[in-house]
Amino acid sequence: GSRPDTVMLSGSAQPTPRLPSTHLLNRLLFSTPFRRRLTIDDFEIGRPLGKGKFGNVYLARLKESHFIVALKVLFKSQIEKEGLEHQLRREIEIQAHLQHPNILRLYNYFHDARRVYLILEYAPRGELYKELQKSHTLDEQHTATIMEELADALTYCHEKKVIHRDIKPENLLLGFKGEVKIADFGWSVHTPSLRRKTMCGTLDYLPPEMIERRTYNEKVDLWCIGVLCYELLVGYPPFESPSHNETYRRILKVDLRFPPSLPLGAQDLVSKLLRYQPLERLPLAQIMEHPWVRAHSRRVLPPSVQMAS
Ligand code: ATP
Ligand code: MG
Repeated sequence: GSRPDTVMLSGSAQPTPRLPSTHLLNRLLFSTPFRRRLTIDDFEIGRPLGKGKFGNVYLARLKESHFIVALKVLFKSQIEKEGLEHQLRREIEIQAHLQHPNILRLYNYFHDARRVYLILEYAPRGELYKELQKSHTLDEQHTATIMEELADALTYCHEKKVIHRDIKPENLLLGFKGEVKIADFGWSVHTPSLRRKTMCGTLDYLPPEMIERRTYNEKVDLWCIGVLCYELLVGYPPFESPSHNETYRRILKVDLRFPPSLPLGAQDLVSKLLRYQPLERLPLAQIMEHPWVRAHSRRVLPPSVQMAS
């Protein structure tokens, strides 16, 4: 990690543990006799976890090691029909190289005549979107924890020159302890998810520079987590409106209004992220050290793994 030294501050953000590399995991978990490629016969398939636009996701277990994964099955015919071969390759390429406790791991992939299979980390607590639908809002603890996790994960991404561009509850999964896992890399950009029935739902997280089709940079992710923080605490996104045009207008004006019940610390954080000028948005390192985040975050990190070389 290359974040500034903050170890002296009590209650300050902890350094991210090292995770085993994809290469090492593949040697440990997915090695097959005579180094043949994996096939679907190496897995026991369990219950469906969900349906995507191009195929389904199943709980699955490797026969040999009993290692549990989520297997995403995509149909080649559909991907080809939509001309998304390059996009899929890019998603695989990006996600396979990201190793962080708050980014959904892509361990490996294989294909047969009709399908492409992505071997993904299993997120036992499912989607943040569903959790939000069920409980309407999250409390300060849970929201602050998610903000710290996302700031740390995005710091890692931005160091690798990866911009997510599509942070929203639909693209966030939850791990065993409720920790957030960013999913849907570089894919959802070209295939906006149709989960929210009203089209304006998909506009709620768009930053001004993307609406105005200006060139944008990694600071779009700061805007998105500002919108997310508001939605998690308030129950609806900040610029939600009856029509597209109205949503666009409110985003471009940064027409931000806080319900009086929203804690002042959270108001301070959100208003420092939702700035029209990308350069004025609070940097990721300062989100992690923001007083409201430090006061409420209960982030738990997985045990660090010693690397065998
Ligand atoms: P898109 O095709 O645009 O990505 P999507 O995000 O709705 O659409 P998938 O990513 O294919 O579709 O996932 C479908 C659903 O399966 C998710 O919404 C989620 O509920 C579940 N799911 C996907 N991956 C995992 C995982 N690794 N662990 C647990 N559940 C998962
Ligand atoms: Mg998805």
